[in-house]
Amino acid sequence: MRKLDSKMSKGFIIQGNNMPSYYDDWQSAQFECKACGWKGSGTELIEGEPFSDLYEANCPKCRECVTTVMFPTIEEARSNWDKVPPLDRMMVEYMEAHQASFEARKLFAPEQLPDVEGDDLVIVWDIDQFNGGDTIIRYGNLELWREPAFYEGYWRFSEVVDLLMQKYGERVQDLVPTRKSGNFLYGDSGSASRYVEEYRRKMRQLRRRATVTTIHPK
Ligand SMILES: [Zn+2]
Repeated sequence: MRKLDSKMSKGFIIQGNNMPSYYDDWQSAQFECKACGWKGSGTELIEGEPFSDLYEANCPKCRECVTTVMFPTIEEARSNWDKVPPLDRMMVEYMEAHQASFEARKLFAPEQLPDVEGDDLVIVWDIDQFNGGDTIIRYGNLELWREPAFYEGYWRFSEVVDLLMQKYGERVQDLVPTRKSGNFLYGDSGSASRYVEEYRRKMRQLRRRATVTTIHPK
């Protein structure tokens, strides 16, 4: 259940395929290992490598992957509440509260942002603490916005860039993540920093195009 946190924070609902969901009664189902022929119940499988949405359940004899199990969503946990252990219940309740607080305080419209002077806005993506708190969007000493941060919240970075661009247009030069924000922004995700860098690159490209048009109008 380690990954419950990051997955749920994105509010993903992963719809069914043939893989068992976390609360399906897969432990009592019978499995067969295609590699070595072992047969047995789900309880005998050994927890293997975790990925972002699922983990592998491996053969106890040869360690080959026999099946994969989806991590639960908040919705699945709620509809299987009697099967959810106390610690996971606390996690679910915490995440629901966090999500509600985010919904109440999130930046959702460009008009919420203050007007600022300047033609070359280097805006900073910062965080309260290394381990969480609020994401703080700063321009110089001016706090443009703050809202609850998510662990591995890089998906939010692009949304904030879009809102900044809507408000300030190509005057935005960059949105720079501080070193302190990195832990929370990228988390354990291998692709998170690439995602953020790619978005910053797009932003600069838009600005460059707009600048060229202004200097050399057709
Ligand atoms: Zn096997």
